[in-house]
Amino acid sequence: MGTSPFEITGKSAIVTGGVMGIGFGVVRRLVEAGANVLIADLNGDLAAQRASELGGPGKTASVAIDVSAVDAGEMLVSACLENFSSVDILVNNAGIYPMSPMLGQDRGVWQRVIDINLTGLAFVSKAVAQQMVSRGGGGKIVNIASIDALHPSMVGLAAYDSSKGGVLMFTRSLALELGPHGINVNAIAPGGINTEGSAAPLQGSGMTPEEMEAMVEQFAAAIPLRRMGEPDDIAKVALFLASPGSDYMTGELVVVDGGRLLS
Ligand code: NAP
Repeated sequence: MGTSPFEITGKSAIVTGGVMGIGFGVVRRLVEAGANVLIADLNGDLAAQRASELGGPGKTASVAIDVSAVDAGEMLVSACLENFSSVDILVNNAGIYPMSPMLGQDRGVWQRVIDINLTGLAFVSKAVAQQMVSRGGGGKIVNIASIDALHPSMVGLAAYDSSKGGVLMFTRSLALELGPHGINVNAIAPGGINTEGSAAPLQGSGMTPEEMEAMVEQFAAAIPLRRMGEPDDIAKVALFLASPGSDYMTGELVVVDGGRLLS
């Protein structure tokens, strides 16, 4: 049989929102597997620091980017080509999830969520897909959606849930369009994952550390596998979707939630 079906040595990847949380978990797995990774994030200084800290075997580079900017996709493609000379893998991970109940919804918050989580993801995908198509040879696009694309997890996330539902349908639609070019487009639906971003609302809630721990335990008790997810739980699946192991999958949503949607 020869080489591993998960071999990505020498492939070049862009990971958006790559400095922390799930994004950084994905960066680490891809670099460890031998891919060259462009860490793209709003926080350019931290992205550069992360890139210099990672030891390989894959190479790393960084770029400061807001994925909702009109030219974000083109900027990411040229930064990746400058550093690594190809774009083979895109992981669309950057996303925000502000609590904002619909009865008090602010249009600016709604629009920002859609601009980053859905429109930004779509147009970054467009620029990367154009590059992959013109070069030939296919590629892999992995979108980080959410279980909220399938089922709202709590009150206050109408904008977020709408954006992630959009990511799911965009994934399917783009997969249909790009299949003939050998480009696989798939999505992951994480459940509750321990990240800097998911911890922030709890930390700003005024709860004591004991109260926060109790709340996390209560949340975990509703998960069949009895624990919150870690970024690496998602990163391992992203690695699979970025590798030849998933060559005959496209337009799929892989739920990685410890069984949360079952309960
Ligand atoms: P996180 O800890 O908040 O990290 C997100 C990273 O993306 C941060 O570095 C952030 O930079 C960056 N970012 C935000 N807006 C950006 C933009 N416009 N352009 C470029 N970078 C941007 O998030 P996470 O919890 O790892 O979540 C990552 C993805 O997984 C999101 O799409 C999220 O919806 C999805 N997800 C997360 C969970 C969960 O439980 N954590 C569950 C389901 C789905 P700044 O910090 O500078 O803003």
